[in-house]
Amino acid sequence: MIVCQFISRGITNSHLYAHLKRLPACQTMTRPSSDLAAFRKIFSKAQSIAVITGAGVSAESGVPTFRGAGGYWRKWEAQSLASPETFSRNPSRVWEFYHYRREVMLTKDPNPAHLAIAECEERLSKQGRTVTVITQNVDRLHRRAGSKNILEIHGNLFRTRCMSCGHEADNYKSPICTALEGKGAPDPKIDDANIPVQNLPRCEQKGCNGLLRPAVVWFGEALDSDILTRAEQVLDSCDLCLVVGTSSVVYPAAMFAPHVAARKVPVAEFNMENTPATERFKFHFHGPCGSTLPPALARHETETEED
Ligand SMILES: [Zn+2]
Repeated sequence: MIVCQFISRGITNSHLYAHLKRLPACQTMTRPSSDLAAFRKIFSKAQSIAVITGAGVSAESGVPTFRGAGGYWRKWEAQSLASPETFSRNPSRVWEFYHYRREVMLTKDPNPAHLAIAECEERLSKQGRTVTVITQNVDRLHRRAGSKNILEIHGNLFRTRCMSCGHEADNYKSPICTALEGKGAPDPKIDDANIPVQNLPRCEQKGCNGLLRPAVVWFGEALDSDILTRAEQVLDSCDLCLVVGTSSVVYPAAMFAPHVAARKVPVAEFNMENTPATERFKFHFHGPCGSTLPPALARHETETEED
């Protein structure tokens, strides 16, 4: 429901960042529980688990997230590069930035948090239970860890969309095109490569040859309504919600978690942030999610395989 409101109001990505950084503080604050045994009891009975993940999960794999302080590439704020206006003005610079991020990703691996979620999904699916990841991360580490039920609300770095015909495709080429080979270093002293637009990644659909762009959601762009609808279905039916590597009062979890909590579904946060969680959120586990998540999602003594 909350998701539908976001669609119908046409609120875009950047607006969400602006409006949902902090939800209004709840009047009655109680400390959420960090009782792992109590969490495990609920976990053992959950049939449909939604796992909302944010930048913290990627950061633990050493992925530069270009958020907050340090969110610079060369002398530009990442936010200014991740915009349709900059891409239309300077596609070469934007492609250098994304080429750099793609190449960096090839050197990074899923961490124990990604692996615990993927292992849990596989194990529970054999018991007729579901785990769905809803992530803002664009690095594909959940997929590489083995997760299959993933809703990437911001798209991902390894997908392209044609500016002419709109065709979308996965693209894992390294480099993505010859002209970008060796380009994209983040050092502020390095000059733009100024690659001619015809040498940037081009569409391979028959007779098209249009300019490709990264299929990620940029600032000022609307989130994909199909993905949001699917996320809403998951959140409407889940009986346990995990918020991992981000706070449930910070976008994007802020968009989803209160909706789930309003249905009296337990929400458990796993993150490094010391934010005041409201009484609507039942659990908070503080620390690196690569340490807190694996014991939380490990096989419970009551689990039996029914495949
Ligand atoms: Zn095309």
